[in-house]
Order: sequence, then structure tokens, then C-alpha cells
Amino acid sequence: MKAQRREYLQALDLQPWMRRQGPAGAPQLPGGAAQGLGGALQGPGGAADAELDWPELRARVAVCTRCGLSATRTQTVFGVGHPQAQWLIVGEAPGAEEDRQGEPFVGRAGQLLNSMLRAVGLAREEVFIANVLKCRPPGNRDPTPTEAGACLPYLERQIALIGPKIILVVGRIAAHNLLATDAPLGSLRQRTHVFGAGRVPVVVTYHPAYLLRTPTEKRKAWDDLKYARRVAAGG
Ligand code: SF4
Repeated sequence: MKAQRREYLQALDLQPWMRRQGPAGAPQLPGGAAQGLGGALQGPGGAADAELDWPELRARVAVCTRCGLSATRTQTVFGVGHPQAQWLIVGEAPGAEEDRQGEPFVGRAGQLLNSMLRAVGLAREEVFIANVLKCRPPGNRDPTPTEAGACLPYLERQIALIGPKIILVVGRIAAHNLLATDAPLGSLRQRTHVFGAGRVPVVVTYHPAYLLRTPTEKRKAWDDLKYARRVAAGG
């Protein structure tokens, strides 16, 4: 088991003997208590998003035209993983490769996310991985508030169906949309936020694509993962 952990930490460019800097166990603060947008939108079928089961939700997303991104996508990227996962990973939006393959977090960023998950003892198949946006913004531009607002009810329904113990939000855009804040990502880390009426614990860390560009931040991401593991364990 120790050898396995060493392998995962090496994938994160971290030495197993490194210790976290600063005080251990930052206090959990009451979070931004983002309230969901209600999932009240209806599709042509009539039922509200909040009433859909997994197949109905998947089918609705697949043909969605609620925002302009439907015109430029190759396909929607619904999300992947265990339907009753304890960990839900939420990113921003599909990139070019995700748009082609129809699966979130593929390519190099996806491989790094897999390593990050394995570092805390989780296989990709055990968690559920989704994005706030189900369609790729052209040129990987930031999604507009209108686009994010149109798509968020789908993620809210996914959260309700999964019932996760923790939501790990990766990256600034996803954090801003899920927590209804514009605070810098650095100030959102190492705290426990909550999402929706169910007050699901939310922990924020860096996006794997950012970590690939800025490997010096990987150690902070490791600290965030350990923090998230404590939150998921109820501590
Ligand atoms: S981004 Fe979301 S709301 Fe917009 S078309 Fe795609 S699935 Fe629909």
C-alpha cells in the first residue's frame, strides 16, 4: 500500500516525505451556502428537471438547446461514473477532446485527475465526474453567466440523484458557478462550503489543466485532497 501511495504522489510530482507547510487542519468555516436554482426548467416532455430519473435526464441533456452552445458542440458531455458515488467531481466545461469523445476529463488533465483521485484511494469508476456546462464553449472561452445558469439545473439534478458525501470542485469557473461567488480560488480552498438545500459539503481545489501549466501548485492540490478526504470522512 505504501508503494502504491508513493507511485501516486510521484504522478503528482510530490515526494512522499514532503510535509504540508503551515498549520495542520485549517478550521472548517461555514461556507457560501449557495442555493440551487431550483431545477424548475421544463423540457418538451413537460416534467421539471428535478423530477427526472437518470435515463430521462441523460436523454434531455443529449438534445438540449437551452443555450447557444448547442449550436457549436459536437455532442453533449453528460458526466461519467458511479450513480451513487460518495465523491462528485465538478469541473467547468468540456474541452476539445471531451467534446469529441463525449466524456469529461479525458486527455492529460483527465490523467492527472485520475492520479489525484488515486492519491486519496479512489478509482475513477468509484466517483462521478461532471461539469457545470454540458457543452463546450467555442475556443474554450469562459462560459457566460447565461449559459451557466441555463445548464446548472442539470448538475443540480445529478447531485440530487447521486447524493454524494462531498463535492470536489476543480477550478475557478466551476467554483464561482456552484458557490455563487467571485472570490479568488485561493481564498475558497481549505474551507468547507455547502451546496443547495441538502447542504452537501463542497471543497475547492485547482483544475488539473491549471496544475499541468503550473506544477508548483500541485502540492497545494495535494493538501486540498487530504482536506477533502477528511471532510468526506465526516471530520
Ligand atoms: S450547455 Fe447546457 S444548457 Fe446549454 S445547450 Fe448544452 S446542455 Fe443545454
